[in-house]
Amino acid sequence: MKYISTRSNEKEYSFGEVFLKGLADDGGLYVPKLLKKYSSAELLKLKNLNYNELSTEIISQFSGDFISKEELSSIIKKSYSTFREKEVVKISNIGELKLLELFHGPTLAFKDVAMQFIGNLYEYYLKKNDKKINIVVATSGDTGAAAIDAIKGKANLNIFVLHPNNRISSVQRKIMTTVEESNVFNIAIDGNFDDCQNIVKQMFSDLVFSKSINMSGVNSINWARIIAQAVYYFYSYFKLGKETISFSVPTGNFGDVFAGYLAKKMGLPIDKLIVATNENDILHRAISKGDYVSKEVKETLSPSMDIQLASNFERLIYYVNNSDSEKTAEIMKKVKQNSYQIEKNNLDIIQKDFLSESCNEQETLDIIKKNYEENNIILDPHTAVGVGAAKKLSFNDCVVLSTAHPCKFPDATKNAINKHEKLPNELQHVLDKKENFQVLKNNTEDVKNFVKLLILSK
Ligand SMILES: *Cc1c(COP(=O)(O)O)cnc(C)c1O
Repeated sequence: MKYISTRSNEKEYSFGEVFLKGLADDGGLYVPKLLKKYSSAELLKLKNLNYNELSTEIISQFSGDFISKEELSSIIKKSYSTFREKEVVKISNIGELKLLELFHGPTLAFKDVAMQFIGNLYEYYLKKNDKKINIVVATSGDTGAAAIDAIKGKANLNIFVLHPNNRISSVQRKIMTTVEESNVFNIAIDGNFDDCQNIVKQMFSDLVFSKSINMSGVNSINWARIIAQAVYYFYSYFKLGKETISFSVPTGNFGDVFAGYLAKKMGLPIDKLIVATNENDILHRAISKGDYVSKEVKETLSPSMDIQLASNFERLIYYVNNSDSEKTAEIMKKVKQNSYQIEKNNLDIIQKDFLSESCNEQETLDIIKKNYEENNIILDPHTAVGVGAAKKLSFNDCVVLSTAHPCKFPDATKNAINKHEKLPNELQHVLDKKENFQVLKNNTEDVKNFVKLLILSK
C-alpha cells in the first residue's frame, strides 16, 4: 500500500512513514493511492467477525508490509484487552435512536480506540528499529489522556502533552496529570487549544529542532488513527443488520466522521453521515451552505469540539475534487487566507454523503435533561450534540456515536440535571492523587527549551 500527500501526488510514502510522520513535508495530509473497495459478497464474509478480527481485516488493508497480519492481530488483541467491554464498543438504545458507545477504554473517550492501537504500533516499530521517539501532542482534553495511557511506560518513547490551562474539565486534566510513569510530561499552556496546536505545529516545522529530538505526532490527522476508527462503522453495520445505515457524529477536527466517510468509500452501505457541531459551527456552515470561514473559538460545554479549522477536512476536499492534489493545494491556500467558499458543484457532491446541524449550549443542556427524564440515560455533552443534530434533522433511524463517558464532564451534567455520573472504579484513584504539570506561557521557544531540557535530563 502506497500513500501520497493531498497536495502533491509526485512522491510516494510507505505506511511506516505515514504513521510516524503524521503530516507530509508539503503540509498536506497522507491519503492512500488506492482504496480497497469491498463488494457486497466480500462484506458478507466479514459479517460474523468479532471486533478484533474485523479490526485486523480492515487495518491490514492499509498497513502493507509494515507488519504481518499475524503480528497485527496480536497487537490489536493486546490493545483492546484494556477495554471494559469485551467487544470494545457497545450498541444501546436511546428512544428510537441507537447509541454506539465508544467510551469503554481506559480514558473514557472514543480516542482510546485508535490510541491504544497506535501506542502498541510504536512499540512494535521501536523494537524492530533501534530508535528513540519523542511524541508531542496538543489536546483539548481527550486526545492527550488517550495518548498518555497508550504510551506510558513504553521503552524508548517519551510523550509531551500540551493542554490549555484551566480550559479542560478537571476530570479530563486529572486523568492526564496523575500518571506516574517517568516518560510522561504534561504542560499547561496559558492560552486556548488553538494556541497549543500552533505551538506543536511550529515545533514540527522547525526541522532542526524536530529532527534533533526525533519528534513524532499522534494528533487526529494521523492516518493510523483514522483506519482504526473506520472499524466501528463496519462493526455497527454488521451488528444492526439493516440494508443501509446512517450515523450522527459529534465533530471537532473531522477525524471521526472522516473515518465513516472512508468506510463508505470502501463499500460500506452508509446512507448519510451527520456532522454534529457545537456553537463552533464552521463545519455546519460549510456543509449546509458552503461557508468555510472560521470565527473566534468559543468555549462550550463540549470542549473536545471547540475547534475552528478542522484539519481532516482537507482529506474530504481532496476526494471531492476527484483526488486532484493540485486543486486541493489551491483550495488550501484559500483556507489559509480564511476565504474559502465551497464551489456549488462540490457542495452538491458533499451533500450527497453529509448532512449537518449545530446545537447551542442551551440545546445541549436540554437534550441531556430530556434524555435523562425520558430514557434514564445520562449523556455526555458531546454525545448530546450528536443526538440533538439527529433530532433536528428528524433522523430517527440512525446511530449516534457516543464519544465520551458522561462522568468525564460532571459540570455539564450537573448543570443540566443536577447530577453527575461516578467514575468507573478503575479510575476513582485519579480524584485524589497528586497532579503533576508545568504551566508555561503561550510561547513556542519556551516550550521547546522546556522539552529539550527534560529530554537531556533523562
Ligand atoms: C475528540 C472528540 C470529539 C471530536 O472528534 P473529531 O475526530 O475531532 O471530530 C468528539 N467528542 C469527544 C468526546 C472527543 O474527545
